[in-house]
Amino acid sequence: MDSAPPRETSLLLGVSDTPPVFELNATSRSPFLFTSDHYGRLIPKPLGDLGLPETELTRHIAWDIGIAGVADRLSNMLGAHLIAQRYSRLVIDCNRPPRVASSIPRLSEATTIPGNEGLSREDAELRRRAIFDPYHRRIDEVIDRRLAAKQPTILVSLHSFTPVYAGVRRPWHIGTLYHRDKALPPLLLKALRAEGDLVVGDNEPYAVSDETDHTIPVHGEARGLTNSGIEIRQDLIADQSAQQQWAERLACILGEIEATLRPELMA
Ligand SMILES: [Zn+2]
Repeated sequence: MDSAPPRETSLLLGVSDTPPVFELNATSRSPFLFTSDHYGRLIPKPLGDLGLPETELTRHIAWDIGIAGVADRLSNMLGAHLIAQRYSRLVIDCNRPPRVASSIPRLSEATTIPGNEGLSREDAELRRRAIFDPYHRRIDEVIDRRLAAKQPTILVSLHSFTPVYAGVRRPWHIGTLYHRDKALPPLLLKALRAEGDLVVGDNEPYAVSDETDHTIPVHGEARGLTNSGIEIRQDLIADQSAQQQWAERLACILGEIEATLRPELMA
C-alpha cells in the first residue's frame, strides 16, 4: 500500500498547539502587506517559562507590547493582509538572521534567559523549524503569489519599542526603520511629521541592517518590494482605545501614500 511521506513533526509544537502564524485578510487586494515579527509572546510547552518569572515574560523583551492591537485594526481598516508571529522573541527572534547570536538571546536588556543557556545546535534547529521557518515560508509564499499575479505590494513591518531602554528614555513617538528603499520611508517621514504633534524618528530608535534584521532585508529588499518598518512607542499603544486611534491615524496616512505611490507600483 502506498502511503504519504510522514508528516514532519516538531517536538516543540504539536498539532493541538497554537500555530506560529496568524493571518488576517489573506485574500486582500490592498497593496499593503503587513508583517508583525514580535506580535505574540507564547512559549512552546516543552520550553516551560524559559526559567523566567511572569514579570519578565510580559515585558518588552518578550514581545512588541501593543502592536497586535494596532496591527489587527490597521489591517482590517485597510483590508490589507497581515501575517504575524505568535511566539515570543525570547524563543527565537523572527527578525534576526538565525546565524547571529541574538537569534536566540541569552541576554535581553539586563535579563539573562536561563532557558536559552547552553543550547545545542539541534535545540536551536528545533526552534527554527517550529516557529521561524513556517512564518517566513508563509511570507515568501504570499509574496510569490502576489508577484506572479502582478499585484502591487508594499511591505510594512510593524513593531513597537519600549519607552525606556537600559535606563535611557526615548523621545520619539514613532519611527521609521529602513535601509535600501528610497520610495516609502521619505513619504512616511513626511506624512508623520506633517501630523504636527509627533516626535518622529528617522531610523530611530533602530535602523535596519543585514546583520540585525531579517524581514526587511529578505522579504522587502531582496524581493524588490517597496518597504519600510514602523516602530510605535509602547506607552502610546497600551490600551485598546489608543490602539484604535493609532490604527486610524496610520490607515489615513498609508491610504494617502498608496495614492501617491500607485503610478510607480503599477509601472
Ligand atoms: Zn519588534
